[in-house]
Amino acid sequence: MLYKSTRSQEKPSMSAAQIIKQGLAEDGGLFVPESIPSLTQEEIQALCKETYPVRAAKILAKFLTDYTYEELLADCTEAYDEKSFVGGAAPLVNLCGNCEVLELWHGPTAAFKDMALQIMPRLLSRALVKTGEERTALILVATSGDTGKAALEGYKDIDRVKIMVFYPVDGVSRVQKLQMATQTGENVNVCAIEGNFDDAQTGVKVIFGDEAMAQKLNENGYFFSSANSINWGRLAPQIVYYVSAYCDLLNAGKCQLGDSFNVCVPTGNFGNIFAAYLAKLMGLPIDKLICASNSNNILTDFLRTGTYDRNRDFYLTMSPSMDILISSNLERLLYFVAGSEKTAEYMRALNQTGCYSVAPEIFEKISADFIGYFADEAATADTIRTTYQKHGYLADTHTAVAIHAAEQYITETNDTRPMVIDSTASPYKFANNVYKAVTQKDATSDLDALDELSAATNTAIPYPLSGLASRKVRFERVVKREDMARAVLEYLDIQ
Ligand SMILES: *Cc1c(COP(=O)(O)O)cnc(C)c1O
Repeated sequence: MLYKSTRSQEKPSMSAAQIIKQGLAEDGGLFVPESIPSLTQEEIQALCKETYPVRAAKILAKFLTDYTYEELLADCTEAYDEKSFVGGAAPLVNLCGNCEVLELWHGPTAAFKDMALQIMPRLLSRALVKTGEERTALILVATSGDTGKAALEGYKDIDRVKIMVFYPVDGVSRVQKLQMATQTGENVNVCAIEGNFDDAQTGVKVIFGDEAMAQKLNENGYFFSSANSINWGRLAPQIVYYVSAYCDLLNAGKCQLGDSFNVCVPTGNFGNIFAAYLAKLMGLPIDKLICASNSNNILTDFLRTGTYDRNRDFYLTMSPSMDILISSNLERLLYFVAGSEKTAEYMRALNQTGCYSVAPEIFEKISADFIGYFADEAATADTIRTTYQKHGYLADTHTAVAIHAAEQYITETNDTRPMVIDSTASPYKFANNVYKAVTQKDATSDLDALDELSAATNTAIPYPLSGLASRKVRFERVVKREDMARAVLEYLDIQ
């Protein structure tokens, strides 16, 4: 299986290892496979009997053909181990009737990013060997909180990789700060900076673009790499849990082989829902893909009108991982329905004017599979409360956006197919807002909110978030923005 850029009309020529190492194509496009491998009913039936790591290795083997099945199985077995994914990698939990919640947050940071970030560093580490790279990759991350922690957990103690995370000293919650400051692992470093998230992000971009820095690293056996969410190595593993969910539906007798189901995904960068679309293209019988947004409902508008327009207000919401105006992975969908020429044209327009409209026949194709809904802040809080009261299910803020969208869709259409709703974070990850929605009271602080939510709902704090205050703090350094490059060199012990 070879890969190419979404914007290029040249023949696919790159291996999976090459594109996982490179991340983004040189023309600014995203990497896509030359074809979509198929998943037959017989294969699905066989996967029903397998564990999650085996399901994952079998699906990944269809895309990463320059990795052996044994390599993939070894990596998936380590990544989705019971010790890091307590209670299973992607369990399906009944919400009510034929609505199921697919819980994607049982990993080491209690959020869905773990599903990809536990496996992708292992794929990268192997990609370095496969491409003859002799240097060590230095992953630099600027984070507003959650991605940094998930990346640290994913890359820790992985061969041939080091990771350094920068966060704004006053721009993350106390829980997030503690999570990062107490990070374990021999190849990790965390540094706060004086400034906001934009300062951290700009600082990292400046370092990435600094030729003298790159040369210094090169002389010392390092090169810069990123943990970016548009890397194919993060996307491919997300296909797996849709197949796995269908196997679990079949195993539970909730549908028969060949019956179709719907999925509803709380969406930010469009990675998660695009993985569901790929699963559908492979042959998984998904009918509708329901795209759920918060008040930043640019995707709802796009899926209803065919016009993507980022010239609009940006809102900070209680579901911050979906506070996004440019959903990068949408470019991959455009490529599959419209081809590379049109995709390049739309992306040029987006760059220049912040807006593009797809042609009517393309809009029709997209609408056949996708439908968009959104929940504003009041609807999100309301959904958390009513879901808990009616079904005894405690949903985080992102999951609540999806539950609201699924309810709207079912009310509008009376579609009775099984509905799989993605749950992308533990309610404890956003304990403050969940506590408030359920009890109508403010928590004492974001750290206290964990215990208070646990007491109020009689549920347990997941292991990644429990006992945070008593863990050993390893990283306390705060630097000025202009000193970030020096902090990197000091970490690597380069003069
Ligand atoms: C990243 C994230 C999302 C959005 O996923 P995309 O793949 O970017 O659409 C939703 N919820 C949570 C909790 C996340 O961390």
